Amino acid sequence: MTEFPLSDLLRPELAELKPYLPTLGDFHVRLDANEAPPLFPGHVRDRLQQALSEVECERYPDPLMAELRAAIARHTGVSSEEVLAGVGSDEIISLLLTVLARPRPGSDAASIVTTTPSFVMYKLSARVRGQRVLEVPLDAEWDIAGEALVRAIEFGQPHVVFIASPNNPTGTMASRDRLAKVIEAAPSSLVVVDEAYVDYADRDQLDLYRRYPNVALLRTLSKIGFAALRVGWLVARPELVAEVDKARLPYNLNSYSQKVATLALSELGPAIKTVLGTVIGERERLAAELAKLPGLIVTPSQANFLWFRSERPASEVFSGLCARKVLVRSFHERGGRLAHQLRVTIGTPEENDEFLRCLREVM
Ligand SMILES: *Cc1c(COP(=O)(O)O)cnc(C)c1O
Repeated sequence: MTEFPLSDLLRPELAELKPYLPTLGDFHVRLDANEAPPLFPGHVRDRLQQALSEVECERYPDPLMAELRAAIARHTGVSSEEVLAGVGSDEIISLLLTVLARPRPGSDAASIVTTTPSFVMYKLSARVRGQRVLEVPLDAEWDIAGEALVRAIEFGQPHVVFIASPNNPTGTMASRDRLAKVIEAAPSSLVVVDEAYVDYADRDQLDLYRRYPNVALLRTLSKIGFAALRVGWLVARPELVAEVDKARLPYNLNSYSQKVATLALSELGPAIKTVLGTVIGERERLAAELAKLPGLIVTPSQANFLWFRSERPASEVFSGLCARKVLVRSFHERGGRLAHQLRVTIGTPEENDEFLRCLREVM
């Protein structure tokens, strides 16, 4: 047989992409993925075990996710018809881009607008579908650049605009007036406000969702103690939810995840709140300690991580920490103004102390 012509079959965009791969390896302290620290007490873990044991493993999951969607709806203050749950908000992002993809007249592909630096999945999901991506740099304070975004929207006629607020990796909220102006400048685009870190922030953007028909919200359990479940959801108008639901794989969310997520959004609410309180307290403590270090500038954070600039190249700080078995995220490979930026997830008080100790050595 002749050689199989794989590259003739592949989407051309794949040539520019790499698989998403977190840093592997043996680290004493892992503060690179914005997970919540393991602070649930024993009785909460016992309750989770008990819930898992009630799942009938022989049966398919509830295809309508009725209990989970009702719990999400109650938790969020919307109706079940406005909720679509997925395998993390990552799945929702890809579903949205699958569905909102009718090329505009005179164009051959759909397009998106987002900011940079921001969450990488918007771009990855769009490129893997052959869609065009316009990235608008954040301003000097890492806030959204309102006028540049409006111009990009007018120019690109995007199907979807993704704004993470609080933003990853900067931890900053998009300012309200700018966000409202962007939404108003995009009447024929869906503006997705990604609120993955809303539980660590001063406020949410539910009022923008209620006020503007072109706004949808993304939320997740991944950053508040349940990354293992892979549960995220979309809050959107029932008409949009119904269309996206057609592209969802049957039984996308397994029974174990549905069960524990439902529990997390109801009974376990107080236990989660306690962890969030600890993380926010630690965030402020760590920010104050970092600010004392010469050559470091910390951006005020509304998330469960800190975004900081070091006078020394981020690559050196990163390697120094790695050598001490502490893992954070460095953005030096992105170059430009990111060459001196690092992101550290807030961990347990002990992990944060260890990070601080090692950082002081490295500096
Ligand atoms: C982590 C993160 C997500 C992904 O959440 P999952 O629910 O785990 O897929 C979405 N958006 C932003 C901005 C994030 O940082």
